[in-house]
Amino acid sequence: MTIMRKRFIAGAICPQCHALDTLALWREEQKEVVECVRCGHHQYQLDTPSKATRSGEHVIGMFRPH
Ligand SMILES: [Zn+2]
Repeated sequence: MTIMRKRFIAGAICPQCHALDTLALWREEQKEVVECVRCGHHQYQLDTPSKATRSGEHVIGMFRPH
């Protein structure tokens, strides 16, 4: 069973056609796919750290520079 949940990135601008709010984002296995619904521009990216930490919602430690 494959669940493809696309969502649009609010405020995102396509790097190719520079249209606003046309970028759809969804997950595919280990990566995220970003597609512009206007020009068809595709972009793949591996798991972003911000996404990975969100599932845990756990603060492991405080990072404090001197
Ligand atoms: Zn585009």
